[in-house]
Amino acid sequence: REIHYQDRPWQKSYGPHVKQRLDYEATLLPRFLEASARDFPNRTALIFEGYTMDFNTLNEMVNRFAACLHDMDVRKGDRVAILLPNTLPCVISYYAAMKIGAITVMNNPLYSDRELEHQFVDSGAKILITLDLLGNRMIDLRPRTRLHHIVITSIGDYLPFPKNLLFPLIGKRKKLAADVKPASDVYRWKKLLSRYAPNPPEVDVDFEDTAMYQYTGGTTGVSKGVMLTHANLSRQVQQIAGWFPGFRKGEEIMLGALPFFHVFGLSTAMNFAVYMGWTDILVPKPQPDPLLKAIARFKPSFVPLVPTMFIGLLNHPDIDKADLTSIKGCFSGSAPLPVEIIRAFEEKTGSVIVEGYGLTETTPVTHVNPYNRDKRKIGSIGLPISDTLCRIVDLENGEDDVPVGKSGELLIKGPQVMKGYLNMQEETEAVLTADGWLHTGDIARMDEDGYFYIVDRKKDMIISGGYNVYPRDIEEVYYGHPKVQEACAVGIPHETRGEAVKVYVVLKAGETATEAKLLSYCRDKLAKYKWPIEIEIRESLPKTNVGKILKKNLRLEAAAGKQ
Ligand code: AMP
Repeated sequence: REIHYQDRPWQKSYGPHVKQRLDYEATLLPRFLEASARDFPNRTALIFEGYTMDFNTLNEMVNRFAACLHDMDVRKGDRVAILLPNTLPCVISYYAAMKIGAITVMNNPLYSDRELEHQFVDSGAKILITLDLLGNRMIDLRPRTRLHHIVITSIGDYLPFPKNLLFPLIGKRKKLAADVKPASDVYRWKKLLSRYAPNPPEVDVDFEDTAMYQYTGGTTGVSKGVMLTHANLSRQVQQIAGWFPGFRKGEEIMLGALPFFHVFGLSTAMNFAVYMGWTDILVPKPQPDPLLKAIARFKPSFVPLVPTMFIGLLNHPDIDKADLTSIKGCFSGSAPLPVEIIRAFEEKTGSVIVEGYGLTETTPVTHVNPYNRDKRKIGSIGLPISDTLCRIVDLENGEDDVPVGKSGELLIKGPQVMKGYLNMQEETEAVLTADGWLHTGDIARMDEDGYFYIVDRKKDMIISGGYNVYPRDIEEVYYGHPKVQEACAVGIPHETRGEAVKVYVVLKAGETATEAKLLSYCRDKLAKYKWPIEIEIRESLPKTNVGKILKKNLRLEAAAGKQ
């Protein structure tokens, strides 16, 4: 491994950075699975509600399903849509499709027909793997898309019923397999798989070929298909592994609770576990209760989550009864992690939480804090991971590098940066420069030690009376309020100031507070121009598929309320 000092003009404003350059193996993810099956054949690869599957069997199942897909006429470059929560068929079908060079399209099972139709049509998917509960809806949706075959899985396909208990449970198992009306080219997963030997044809897949279309834009409008290559996915897991050198192959237990249909869960909670030969605990419903139960029962050591999941766990009534001491490392990303939450969670578990950052367009991880209590900086997203170059440019002209400590738009270049958006040349050119720099749309600053801080999203910034107000500053204050569980600040139209601040809060269970009291809470903590003029207490806040607060929806609601 070589250490190199980047000597590039854009580094001038930042001083020399030491960056580790990894010698990437140009290996496709399914080949990493083969390696884990070879090195740790009998180690449990996946746990689903107590049912376990070892690496050898997982690899064999992937080969079976790859053979099956090929037999269904799926060829290199064809699109395979997967509409599943975190379950065994989700992992198996994803790796099988990649193995034969098909392009996978991951979809959120909670999406409406309209959203799914857009993703199926835009991607041109020809086969869908889904859950029995969604089967009839998907059969009805099929004529409006190019979908041909539909493969139906059931939660009951993999449940750990010991044989001697099977008889009384047969009825239960049957009930678990929801009825799907008979239709042509609709197959049951288990029956279908049993027909194939684990011998898929050899397909010549290039490292730079597109491996998946990952739809993004829930928070920003039209959903765009981010084209990620095999190289993006493979290098990303190697980058993450390079960041956690203390965690060794074949030794840890991952909590697979982040949804695999979002790239954060896909890379950190699935692909990384497969690459490392770690056991992955699949949690299909990442709500506080199943999360807490899965941790207490299966004892994960490596736990990637989003902030709302940490918050949900901390507010669970049984948190103090559960043994969470198996957790060594936690990784948080996708949204800012309030400082109070880090402190409280670490105190309860004795673990270390490191915050990272990334976006779908970067597979997603680009920054992570060092996994070391003395070196990480709380409130920062950490340092760029290996081979990830960063610039911070002037918000107005988008070109000039700003000096250390000043805020600007964060630009990123590295092996994890996407190829572009599917069929959206203009949108691609708007964010990706010809020489590979991605405009993140996030406002960031870097300190003298090279640590980065996300100030806010460009789109979320509130301009009040000529001042830039970053919602995050205000939210941090309210997260420090002992009765507040969640807070979200948005801009609302204001006659004289242009925009003013409104804060939505959710109180902790059993707490009460008045809006007037909450309004005055920030008086000695924030400059006057940042004080909210309205506070609304809600039962809950709208969230995206990974649990990120949907600020855009609240902003629209707040603005509508002002008209
Ligand atoms: P997505 O493409 O859905 O993963 O969203 C990416 C966006 O999430 C980024 O552009 C950031 O605005 C936000 N984000 C991700 N990680 C963090 C973090 N640690 N702190 C603040 N914002 C984050």
